[in-house]
Amino acid sequence: MKELDKAGKEFLLNSIRCINDFPKPGIVFRDITTLLNNKEAFNFLIDHLAARYENASIDFIAGIESRGFIFAAALAARLRLPFVPIRKPKKLPYITISQKYSLEYGVDEVQIHIDAFGEKAGAKVLLIDDLIATGGTAKASVELINQTNAVCVEACFLIDLKDLGGSKNLRPLTKIYSILEI
Ligand code: AMP
Repeated sequence: MKELDKAGKEFLLNSIRCINDFPKPGIVFRDITTLLNNKEAFNFLIDHLAARYENASIDFIAGIESRGFIFAAALAARLRLPFVPIRKPKKLPYITISQKYSLEYGVDEVQIHIDAFGEKAGAKVLLIDDLIATGGTAKASVELINQTNAVCVEACFLIDLKDLGGSKNLRPLTKIYSILEI
């Protein structure tokens, strides 16, 4: 499947703004609003993802709340595929299934609607988020998809903060495509 060349990666990387010490000291926050605000960069990204996945026999595209929704929904519309939101607890109104995961202090949870992937067993799901750091959210999301009768066939991230080890932890569960490794 298609990957971006060096010039394409640099173009996308340069469209993302870095904010030091946000939301707390020591964190370099990767601000994708500047990519979304740049119509060439946003379309370049969605064109690339569409080319990569158009013949991949994907049945559903799932996005992780909240920045994952933006890319996943744009790609789903482009590929004429259904979009599924993976949400934080108590946001979804119908019957949900949940997956808990550990944070540095305490636990968090992700949820989807029980009927999100339809009734056909073995539906292929592409999972999308903007960024993988420690990988806790993404791992719980893959486990959540695989709890249903669907299967996560690839997890796709715009940015992989490699040193934090998230993609390494996730790799035993699913294939991973990170467009930019930082
Ligand atoms: P994690 O569960 O540690 O992999 O965290 C991933 C989630 O946190 C993603 O949904 C990101 O949007 C967000 N996140 C974590 N670190 C950063 C960062 N340095 N810049 C922007 N977003 C981040």
